[in-house]
Amino acid sequence: PDMSDLASWQSIDRAHHIHPFTDQKALRASGSRIICKGEGVYLQDVEGNRYLDGMAGLWCVNVGYGRQELVTAATRQMEELAYYNCFFNTSTPAATRLSQLLAQVTPDGFNQCFFTNSGSEANDTVLRFGRHYWALKGKPEKTIFISRRNAYHGSTVAAGSLGGMAWMHSQGGLPIPDIAHIDQPYWYHEGGDETPEEFGIRVARQLKAKIRELGPDRVAAFIAEPIQGSGGVIIPPSTYWPEIKRICAENEILFIADEVICGFGRTGKWFGSEFYDLKPDMMSMAKGLSSGYVPIGAVMMSDEVADTLVANGFLSHGFTYSGHPLACAVAVRNIEIMLNERLVERVESDIGPYFQEKWASLKNHALVGEARSIGLIAGLEMVKDKSRREKFPTTARVGLFFREAAFRNGLVLRAIGDTVVASPPLVITHAEVDELIEKLGRTLDETERYVRTL
Ligand code: PMP
Repeated sequence: PDMSDLASWQSIDRAHHIHPFTDQKALRASGSRIICKGEGVYLQDVEGNRYLDGMAGLWCVNVGYGRQELVTAATRQMEELAYYNCFFNTSTPAATRLSQLLAQVTPDGFNQCFFTNSGSEANDTVLRFGRHYWALKGKPEKTIFISRRNAYHGSTVAAGSLGGMAWMHSQGGLPIPDIAHIDQPYWYHEGGDETPEEFGIRVARQLKAKIRELGPDRVAAFIAEPIQGSGGVIIPPSTYWPEIKRICAENEILFIADEVICGFGRTGKWFGSEFYDLKPDMMSMAKGLSSGYVPIGAVMMSDEVADTLVANGFLSHGFTYSGHPLACAVAVRNIEIMLNERLVERVESDIGPYFQEKWASLKNHALVGEARSIGLIAGLEMVKDKSRREKFPTTARVGLFFREAAFRNGLVLRAIGDTVVASPPLVITHAEVDELIEKLGRTLDETERYVRTL
Protein backbone atom coordinates (compact mmCIF):
# COMPACT_ATOMS: atom_id res chain seq x y z
CA PRO A 1 0.00 0.00 0.00
CA ASP A 2 0.81 3.71 -0.19
CA MET A 3 2.75 4.82 2.86
CA SER A 4 -0.12 7.04 4.02
CA ASP A 5 -2.88 4.47 3.50
CA LEU A 6 -3.48 3.67 7.16
CA ALA A 7 -6.59 1.55 6.56
CA SER A 8 -4.72 -0.85 4.27
CA TRP A 9 -1.78 -1.18 6.65
CA GLN A 10 -4.19 -1.89 9.47
CA SER A 11 -6.12 -4.52 7.61
CA ILE A 12 -2.93 -6.37 6.61
CA ASP A 13 -1.60 -6.13 10.15
CA ARG A 14 -4.92 -7.39 11.54
CA ALA A 15 -4.89 -10.40 9.21
CA HIS A 16 -1.31 -11.54 9.64
CA HIS A 17 0.49 -10.07 12.61
CA ILE A 18 0.27 -11.30 16.19
CA HIS A 19 1.72 -8.62 18.47
CA PRO A 20 3.85 -9.28 21.58
CA PHE A 21 2.32 -8.55 25.00
CA THR A 22 -0.91 -7.27 23.48
CA ASP A 23 -4.61 -7.92 23.92
CA GLN A 24 -5.01 -9.36 20.41
CA LYS A 25 -8.79 -9.05 20.34
CA ALA A 26 -8.75 -5.42 21.43
CA LEU A 27 -5.99 -4.65 18.94
CA ARG A 28 -7.92 -6.18 16.07
CA ALA A 29 -10.94 -4.10 17.02
CA SER A 30 -9.00 -0.83 17.27
CA GLY A 31 -6.32 -1.34 14.59
CA SER A 32 -2.61 -0.61 14.98
CA ARG A 33 -0.84 2.72 14.88
CA ILE A 34 1.74 2.34 12.12
CA ILE A 35 4.95 4.15 12.99
CA CYS A 36 7.17 4.77 9.98
CA LYS A 37 9.81 7.40 10.83
CA GLY A 38 12.01 8.60 13.63
CA GLU A 39 14.24 11.64 14.06
CA GLY A 40 15.87 12.68 17.32
CA VAL A 41 13.25 12.14 20.03
CA TYR A 42 10.31 12.25 17.60
CA LEU A 43 8.34 9.51 15.87
CA GLN A 44 5.95 9.84 12.99
CA ASP A 45 3.09 7.57 11.91
CA VAL A 46 1.91 6.88 8.36
CA GLU A 47 -0.71 9.63 8.58
CA GLY A 48 1.99 12.18 9.43
CA ASN A 49 1.15 12.56 13.14
CA ARG A 50 4.23 13.37 15.23
CA TYR A 51 4.92 12.07 18.72
CA LEU A 52 7.56 12.91 21.28
CA ASP A 53 8.84 9.51 22.36
CA GLY A 54 9.14 9.60 26.14
CA MET A 55 10.04 5.90 26.20
CA ALA A 56 13.04 5.82 23.82
CA GLY A 57 11.21 3.05 21.97
CA LEU A 58 11.26 0.37 24.66
CA TRP A 59 13.87 1.97 26.93
CA CYS A 60 16.51 1.59 24.24
CA VAL A 61 16.97 4.40 21.70
CA ASN A 62 19.45 6.28 23.89
CA VAL A 63 21.23 8.23 21.14
CA GLY A 64 17.93 9.14 19.45
CA TYR A 65 16.44 8.14 16.10
CA GLY A 66 17.95 8.76 12.69
CA ARG A 67 21.67 8.80 13.60
CA GLN A 68 23.55 8.83 10.31
CA GLU A 69 26.75 7.53 11.97
CA LEU A 70 24.96 4.29 12.80
CA VAL A 71 23.55 3.99 9.30
CA THR A 72 27.06 4.41 7.92
CA ALA A 73 28.55 1.86 10.34
CA ALA A 74 25.85 -0.66 9.39
CA THR A 75 26.22 -0.07 5.66
CA ARG A 76 30.01 -0.39 5.73
CA GLN A 77 29.85 -3.60 7.72
CA MET A 78 27.21 -5.11 5.42
CA GLU A 79 29.37 -4.30 2.42
CA GLU A 80 32.54 -5.71 3.94
CA LEU A 81 31.29 -8.77 5.76
CA ALA A 82 27.58 -9.36 6.34
CA TYR A 83 28.06 -12.40 8.50
CA TYR A 84 30.59 -14.55 10.14
CA ASN A 85 30.54 -16.38 13.44
CA CYS A 86 32.80 -16.92 16.38
CA PHE A 87 32.39 -20.71 16.64
CA PHE A 88 35.49 -22.07 14.92
CA ASN A 89 38.27 -20.21 16.70
CA THR A 90 37.34 -17.21 14.53
CA SER A 91 36.25 -13.69 15.34
CA THR A 92 35.63 -10.47 13.41
CA PRO A 93 37.03 -6.96 13.89
CA ALA A 94 33.56 -5.76 14.93
CA ALA A 95 33.04 -8.38 17.67
CA THR A 96 36.60 -8.03 18.90
CA ARG A 97 36.40 -4.24 19.05
CA LEU A 98 33.05 -4.34 20.87
CA SER A 99 34.41 -6.68 23.54
CA GLN A 100 37.25 -4.22 24.12
CA LEU A 101 34.91 -1.22 24.35
CA LEU A 102 32.66 -3.05 26.80
CA ALA A 103 35.65 -3.77 29.03
CA GLN A 104 36.43 -0.06 28.84
CA VAL A 105 32.99 1.25 29.85
CA THR A 106 32.12 -1.35 32.51
CA PRO A 107 33.54 -1.05 36.05
CA ASP A 108 37.02 -2.30 37.00
CA GLY A 109 37.18 -6.06 37.26
CA PHE A 110 34.90 -6.60 34.23
CA ASN A 111 36.93 -7.53 31.20
CA GLN A 112 35.21 -10.42 29.45
CA CYS A 113 31.90 -10.67 27.65
CA PHE A 114 29.67 -13.19 25.93
CA PHE A 115 27.42 -12.00 23.09
CA THR A 116 23.73 -12.79 22.66
CA ASN A 117 20.94 -11.35 20.50
CA SER A 118 18.65 -9.98 23.18
CA GLY A 119 18.20 -9.30 26.85
CA SER A 120 16.21 -12.52 27.25
CA GLU A 121 19.06 -14.55 25.83
CA ALA A 122 21.51 -12.68 28.05
CA ASN A 123 19.49 -13.74 31.09
CA ASP A 124 19.22 -17.34 29.84
CA THR A 125 22.99 -17.24 29.52
CA VAL A 126 23.41 -15.90 33.03
CA LEU A 127 21.29 -18.74 34.39
CA ARG A 128 23.39 -21.38 32.66
CA PHE A 129 26.73 -19.76 33.42
CA GLY A 130 25.77 -19.16 37.07
CA ARG A 131 24.90 -22.80 37.61
CA HIS A 132 27.92 -23.98 35.66
CA TYR A 133 30.16 -21.69 37.71
CA TRP A 134 29.10 -23.40 40.93
CA ALA A 135 29.47 -26.86 39.38
CA LEU A 136 33.05 -25.94 38.45
CA LYS A 137 33.60 -24.78 42.03
CA GLY A 138 32.61 -28.25 43.21
CA LYS A 139 29.14 -27.18 44.34
CA PRO A 140 26.80 -28.57 41.67
CA GLU A 141 23.87 -28.55 44.07
CA LYS A 142 23.87 -24.73 44.02
CA THR A 143 21.27 -24.29 41.26
CA ILE A 144 18.47 -22.08 42.57
CA PHE A 145 18.11 -18.50 41.32
CA ILE A 146 16.23 -16.02 43.48
CA SER A 147 14.52 -13.13 41.75
CA ARG A 148 11.79 -10.66 42.68
CA ARG A 149 8.06 -10.61 42.20
CA ASN A 150 6.95 -8.40 39.35
CA ALA A 151 10.48 -8.31 37.92
CA TYR A 152 10.86 -8.56 34.15
CA HIS A 153 13.92 -10.36 32.82
CA GLY A 154 12.69 -11.36 29.35
CA SER A 155 10.32 -13.73 27.66
CA THR A 156 12.13 -16.97 26.80
CA VAL A 157 11.32 -19.95 29.02
CA ALA A 158 14.25 -19.32 31.36
CA ALA A 159 14.10 -15.51 31.35
CA GLY A 160 10.32 -15.56 31.75
CA SER A 161 10.75 -17.90 34.71
CA LEU A 162 13.35 -15.62 36.30
CA GLY A 163 10.85 -12.81 35.90
CA GLY A 164 8.26 -12.53 38.59
CA MET A 165 5.20 -11.38 36.71
CA ALA A 166 2.19 -13.44 37.67
CA TRP A 167 0.46 -12.76 34.34
CA MET A 168 3.44 -14.21 32.48
CA HIS A 169 3.57 -17.29 34.63
CA SER A 170 -0.11 -17.86 33.87
CA GLN A 171 0.66 -18.96 30.29
CA GLY A 172 2.96 -21.52 28.72
CA GLY A 173 3.97 -23.54 31.76
CA LEU A 174 6.30 -21.10 33.51
CA PRO A 175 8.22 -21.03 35.76
CA ILE A 176 10.78 -23.79 35.32
CA PRO A 177 11.95 -25.44 38.57
CA ASP A 178 14.62 -24.05 40.89
CA ILE A 179 13.56 -20.44 40.70
CA ALA A 180 12.22 -18.57 43.73
CA HIS A 181 10.91 -15.07 44.24
CA ILE A 182 10.89 -12.47 47.00
CA ASP A 183 9.00 -9.15 47.13
CA GLN A 184 10.05 -6.06 45.22
CA PRO A 185 11.01 -2.94 47.21
CA TYR A 186 7.84 -1.06 46.21
CA TRP A 187 7.47 1.27 49.16
CA TYR A 188 4.75 3.46 47.67
CA HIS A 189 2.11 0.77 47.43
CA GLU A 190 3.48 -1.91 49.74
CA GLY A 191 5.23 0.07 52.48
CA GLY A 192 2.16 0.54 54.71
CA ASP A 193 3.05 2.54 57.83
CA GLU A 194 6.79 1.87 57.62
CA THR A 195 9.27 4.54 56.60
CA PRO A 196 10.98 3.80 53.26
CA GLU A 197 14.18 2.99 55.19
CA GLU A 198 12.47 0.48 57.49
CA PHE A 199 10.64 -1.06 54.56
CA GLY A 200 13.87 -1.33 52.52
CA ILE A 201 15.57 -3.35 55.25
CA ARG A 202 12.57 -5.57 55.87
CA VAL A 203 12.11 -6.46 52.18
CA ALA A 204 15.85 -7.03 51.70
CA ARG A 205 15.80 -9.46 54.62
CA GLN A 206 13.30 -11.59 52.73
CA LEU A 207 16.33 -12.66 50.73
CA LYS A 208 18.01 -13.95 53.89
CA ALA A 209 14.83 -15.77 54.93
CA LYS A 210 14.43 -17.30 51.47
CA ILE A 211 18.05 -18.50 51.44
CA ARG A 212 17.54 -20.06 54.89
CA GLU A 213 14.32 -21.74 53.76
CA LEU A 214 15.89 -23.20 50.60
CA GLY A 215 19.31 -23.88 52.13
CA PRO A 216 22.37 -21.77 51.27
CA ASP A 217 24.00 -24.85 49.74
CA ARG A 218 21.32 -24.89 47.07
CA VAL A 219 21.15 -21.20 46.12
CA ALA A 220 23.29 -20.12 43.16
CA ALA A 221 22.41 -16.48 42.68
CA PHE A 222 20.21 -13.47 43.26
CA ILE A 223 19.25 -11.57 40.10
CA ALA A 224 17.76 -8.08 40.02
CA GLU A 225 17.68 -4.79 38.18
CA PRO A 226 19.32 -1.93 40.12
CA ILE A 227 16.09 -0.01 39.51
CA GLN A 228 13.20 -2.19 38.43
CA GLY A 229 12.12 -0.79 35.06
CA SER A 230 9.24 -2.67 33.47
CA GLY A 231 7.98 -3.49 36.97
CA GLY A 232 7.02 0.20 37.26
CA VAL A 233 10.31 2.07 37.85
CA ILE A 234 10.68 0.85 41.41
CA ILE A 235 13.43 2.97 42.96
CA PRO A 236 14.54 1.12 46.09
CA PRO A 237 14.83 2.87 49.48
CA SER A 238 18.41 3.83 50.43
CA THR A 239 18.69 0.94 52.90
CA TYR A 240 17.81 -1.78 50.41
CA TRP A 241 20.95 -2.42 48.36
CA PRO A 242 23.50 -2.30 51.20
CA GLU A 243 21.47 -4.96 53.02
CA ILE A 244 21.09 -7.15 49.90
CA LYS A 245 24.83 -6.90 49.20
CA ARG A 246 25.63 -7.98 52.74
CA ILE A 247 23.27 -10.97 52.51
CA CYS A 248 24.71 -12.14 49.15
CA ALA A 249 28.27 -11.93 50.50
CA GLU A 250 27.46 -13.71 53.75
CA ASN A 251 25.75 -16.57 51.98
CA GLU A 252 28.19 -17.11 49.17
CA ILE A 253 25.74 -16.52 46.34
CA LEU A 254 26.35 -14.70 43.07
CA PHE A 255 24.75 -11.32 42.54
CA ILE A 256 23.61 -10.69 38.99
CA ALA A 257 22.57 -7.24 37.82
CA ASP A 258 20.13 -7.05 34.95
CA GLU A 259 21.36 -3.88 33.24
CA VAL A 260 19.13 -4.22 30.19
CA ILE A 261 17.27 -1.00 31.11
CA CYS A 262 19.56 0.63 33.70
CA GLY A 263 22.75 0.18 31.67
CA PHE A 264 24.27 2.60 29.18
CA GLY A 265 23.66 5.86 30.94
CA ARG A 266 20.05 5.75 31.99
CA THR A 267 20.84 6.54 35.66
CA GLY A 268 23.63 9.02 34.94
CA LYS A 269 26.27 6.30 35.40
CA TRP A 270 27.30 3.87 32.69
CA PHE A 271 25.61 1.09 34.66
CA GLY A 272 22.95 1.12 37.37
CA SER A 273 25.25 -1.12 39.42
CA GLU A 274 27.65 1.80 39.69
CA PHE A 275 24.90 4.14 40.80
CA TYR A 276 24.32 1.87 43.82
CA ASP A 277 27.91 0.58 44.10
CA LEU A 278 26.70 -3.01 43.66
CA LYS A 279 29.78 -4.83 42.34
CA PRO A 280 27.88 -7.68 40.68
CA ASP A 281 29.38 -10.97 39.51
CA MET A 282 27.65 -10.78 36.14
CA MET A 283 25.72 -8.11 34.25
CA SER A 284 23.22 -8.81 31.50
CA MET A 285 22.74 -6.07 28.95
CA ALA A 286 20.92 -5.34 25.65
CA LYS A 287 18.73 -2.39 24.52
CA GLY A 288 21.05 0.63 25.07
CA LEU A 289 24.04 -1.44 23.95
CA SER A 290 23.02 -0.66 20.37
CA SER A 291 20.46 2.05 21.17
CA GLY A 292 17.97 -0.43 19.71
CA TYR A 293 19.29 0.01 16.15
CA VAL A 294 20.12 -3.71 15.89
CA PRO A 295 19.24 -6.67 18.11
CA ILE A 296 22.16 -7.49 20.39
CA GLY A 297 22.71 -8.46 24.02
CA ALA A 298 25.70 -9.41 26.13
CA VAL A 299 26.71 -10.86 29.45
CA MET A 300 29.63 -9.13 31.08
CA MET A 301 31.42 -11.24 33.67
CA SER A 302 33.64 -10.37 36.60
CA ASP A 303 37.18 -11.62 36.13
CA GLU A 304 36.59 -14.25 38.79
CA VAL A 305 33.54 -15.72 37.03
CA ALA A 306 35.06 -15.44 33.55
CA ASP A 307 38.37 -16.98 34.59
CA THR A 308 36.57 -19.89 36.25
CA LEU A 309 34.50 -20.59 33.13
CA VAL A 310 37.50 -20.21 30.82
CA ALA A 311 39.77 -22.40 32.94
CA ASN A 312 37.40 -25.30 32.41
CA GLY A 313 37.88 -25.22 28.66
CA PHE A 314 34.76 -26.08 26.69
CA LEU A 315 31.63 -23.95 27.16
CA SER A 316 28.50 -25.58 25.72
CA HIS A 317 26.57 -22.44 24.94
CA GLY A 318 26.15 -19.96 22.09
CA PHE A 319 24.06 -18.67 19.20
CA THR A 320 24.51 -18.48 15.42
CA TYR A 321 24.45 -14.73 15.85
CA SER A 322 26.64 -14.40 18.99
CA GLY A 323 28.91 -11.53 17.99
CA HIS A 324 27.09 -10.86 14.69
CA PRO A 325 29.34 -8.38 12.84
CA LEU A 326 26.50 -6.06 11.84
CA ALA A 327 25.14 -5.87 15.37
CA CYS A 328 28.63 -5.42 16.83
CA ALA A 329 29.64 -2.73 14.32
CA VAL A 330 26.54 -0.70 15.17
CA ALA A 331 27.02 -1.23 18.93
CA VAL A 332 30.65 -0.09 18.64
CA ARG A 333 29.60 3.11 16.89
CA ASN A 334 26.79 3.65 19.39
CA ILE A 335 29.21 3.45 22.34
CA GLU A 336 31.62 5.76 20.54
CA ILE A 337 28.81 8.30 20.11
CA MET A 338 28.03 8.05 23.82
CA LEU A 339 31.69 8.60 24.68
CA ASN A 340 32.25 11.42 22.17
CA GLU A 341 29.10 13.30 23.18
CA ARG A 342 29.64 12.58 26.88
CA LEU A 343 26.01 11.46 27.09
CA VAL A 344 26.38 9.69 30.43
CA GLU A 345 27.89 12.77 32.07
CA ARG A 346 25.15 14.84 30.47
CA VAL A 347 22.50 12.70 32.18
CA GLU A 348 24.28 12.91 35.52
CA SER A 349 24.89 16.64 35.69
CA ASP A 350 22.79 18.46 33.12
CA ILE A 351 19.69 17.02 31.48
CA GLY A 352 19.04 14.47 34.22
CA PRO A 353 18.74 16.99 37.07
CA TYR A 354 16.66 19.29 34.82
CA PHE A 355 14.28 16.46 33.93
CA GLN A 356 14.06 15.29 37.54
CA GLU A 357 13.09 18.73 38.78
CA LYS A 358 10.32 19.03 36.18
CA TRP A 359 9.14 15.50 36.83
CA ALA A 360 8.97 16.09 40.59
CA SER A 361 6.69 19.10 39.99
CA LEU A 362 4.00 16.72 38.68
CA LYS A 363 3.51 15.62 42.28
CA ASN A 364 1.15 18.59 42.69
CA HIS A 365 -1.33 17.18 40.19
CA ALA A 366 -4.54 15.90 41.80
CA LEU A 367 -4.09 12.45 40.24
CA VAL A 368 -0.43 11.95 41.17
CA GLY A 369 0.52 10.22 44.41
CA GLU A 370 4.25 10.00 43.80
CA ALA A 371 6.62 11.25 41.08
CA ARG A 372 10.01 9.55 41.36
CA SER A 373 13.05 9.64 39.11
CA ILE A 374 16.78 9.10 38.82
CA GLY A 375 18.78 10.27 35.80
CA LEU A 376 16.38 9.83 32.87
CA ILE A 377 14.23 7.04 34.29
CA ALA A 378 11.00 8.00 36.00
CA GLY A 379 7.76 6.67 37.43
CA LEU A 380 4.56 8.38 38.42
CA GLU A 381 1.76 6.85 40.49
CA MET A 382 -1.78 7.74 39.41
CA VAL A 383 -4.01 7.11 42.41
CA LYS A 384 -7.62 7.42 43.47
CA ASP A 385 -6.75 8.97 46.83
CA LYS A 386 -3.35 10.56 47.42
CA SER A 387 -3.65 10.81 51.18
CA ARG A 388 -4.24 7.07 51.51
CA ARG A 389 -2.09 5.94 48.53
CA GLU A 390 -5.24 4.20 47.28
CA LYS A 391 -5.22 2.53 43.88
CA PHE A 392 -7.98 2.69 41.29
CA PRO A 393 -9.86 -0.57 40.82
CA THR A 394 -8.25 -2.40 37.89
CA THR A 395 -11.57 -2.31 36.04
CA ALA A 396 -11.24 1.48 35.77
CA ARG A 397 -8.48 1.00 33.15
CA VAL A 398 -6.98 4.38 33.98
CA GLY A 399 -3.55 3.47 32.61
CA LEU A 400 -5.04 2.47 29.26
CA PHE A 401 -7.01 5.68 29.01
CA PHE A 402 -3.82 7.60 29.86
CA ARG A 403 -1.77 5.89 27.14
CA GLU A 404 -4.32 6.63 24.43
CA ALA A 405 -4.79 10.23 25.61
CA ALA A 406 -1.00 10.69 25.51
CA PHE A 407 -0.91 9.50 21.89
CA ARG A 408 -3.67 11.99 21.03
CA ASN A 409 -1.52 14.70 22.63
CA GLY A 410 1.50 13.73 20.54
CA LEU A 411 3.32 11.95 23.32
CA VAL A 412 4.39 8.32 23.73
CA LEU A 413 4.41 7.26 27.36
CA ARG A 414 3.62 3.90 28.79
CA ALA A 415 1.49 3.15 31.82
CA ILE A 416 2.19 -0.09 33.65
CA GLY A 417 -1.03 -0.61 35.52
CA ASP A 418 -1.63 2.97 36.67
CA THR A 419 2.08 3.74 37.01
CA VAL A 420 3.27 6.01 34.21
CA VAL A 421 6.89 5.27 33.30
CA ALA A 422 9.27 7.40 31.28
CA SER A 423 12.76 6.94 29.82
CA PRO A 424 13.37 9.48 27.06
CA PRO A 425 16.41 9.29 24.78
CA LEU A 426 19.56 10.54 26.52
CA VAL A 427 19.93 13.21 23.83
CA ILE A 428 16.65 14.93 24.74
CA THR A 429 17.07 18.73 24.91
CA HIS A 430 15.85 21.05 27.65
CA ALA A 431 13.10 22.38 25.36
CA GLU A 432 12.01 18.83 24.57
CA VAL A 433 11.84 18.01 28.29
CA ASP A 434 9.57 21.06 28.69
CA GLU A 435 7.42 19.80 25.84
CA LEU A 436 7.25 16.31 27.35
CA ILE A 437 6.17 17.69 30.74
CA GLU A 438 3.63 20.04 29.16
CA LYS A 439 2.04 17.25 27.09
CA LEU A 440 2.11 14.94 30.09
CA GLY A 441 0.37 17.58 32.23
CA ARG A 442 -2.35 17.94 29.62
CA THR A 443 -2.74 14.16 29.44
CA LEU A 444 -3.03 13.94 33.23
CA ASP A 445 -5.73 16.65 33.17
CA GLU A 446 -7.70 14.63 30.62
CA THR A 447 -7.20 11.46 32.62
CA GLU A 448 -8.46 13.20 35.72
CA ARG A 449 -11.60 14.28 33.87
CA TYR A 450 -12.01 10.66 32.74
CA VAL A 451 -11.75 9.23 36.26
CA ARG A 452 -14.41 11.68 37.47
CA THR A 453 -16.86 10.06 35.04
CA LEU A 454 -16.27 6.59 36.50
N1 PMP B 1 15.58 -7.50 31.22
C1 PMP B 1 14.94 -6.33 31.38
C2 PMP B 1 15.12 -5.56 32.63
C3 PMP B 1 14.11 -5.85 30.36
O1 PMP B 1 13.46 -4.71 30.50
C4 PMP B 1 13.96 -6.61 29.18
C5 PMP B 1 13.10 -6.14 28.03
N2 PMP B 1 12.11 -5.24 28.30
C6 PMP B 1 14.65 -7.82 29.09
C7 PMP B 1 15.45 -8.23 30.12
C8 PMP B 1 14.51 -8.70 27.88
O2 PMP B 1 15.15 -8.15 26.81
P1 PMP B 1 14.71 -8.58 25.32
O3 PMP B 1 13.31 -8.08 25.12
O4 PMP B 1 15.75 -7.92 24.47
O5 PMP B 1 14.78 -10.05 25.24
